[in-house]
Amino acid sequence: MYCKNCGEAMNDNQAICLKCGVKVGDGNGFCANCGNALAPNADVCLNCGVAVKKVGANGDYLNGQDKIVIALICFFLGSIGIHNFILGETKKGIVKIVLSFCFGISVILMLIDFVKILTDKYVVDPNKAF
Ligand SMILES: [Zn+2]
Ligand SMILES: [Zn+2]
Repeated sequence: MYCKNCGEAMNDNQAICLKCGVKVGDGNGFCANCGNALAPNADVCLNCGVAVKKVGANGDYLNGQDKIVIALICFFLGSIGIHNFILGETKKGIVKIVLSFCFGISVILMLIDFVKILTDKYVVDPNKAF
């Protein structure tokens, strides 16, 4: 295992990197599998081929939730913002509940989220209301 922040080799039982002090799994500059430096938006490590976990605005792509599960929840319950609450985006969820009284608007927002989740474009941001 390698530090994703600085690329330093680590033991599997280490909780933080002894070189840079960052928690294991934090950072996205280096491959955790081989320690190779990664391009900023790399999906896979070009050195070893391991998939790189995407990092969103709050540090975790879809908050670590399964993409298909979130997409389905978004599709069936998204117009009242359930997927936003699950992703920790309380503000967006509340806005969708309010908008659900104007049914058409929240369905449009839900479909936008649904497409973004499926196309890997969704970025979790608890600070935004839309
Ligand atoms: Zn480090
Ligand atoms: Zn690698």
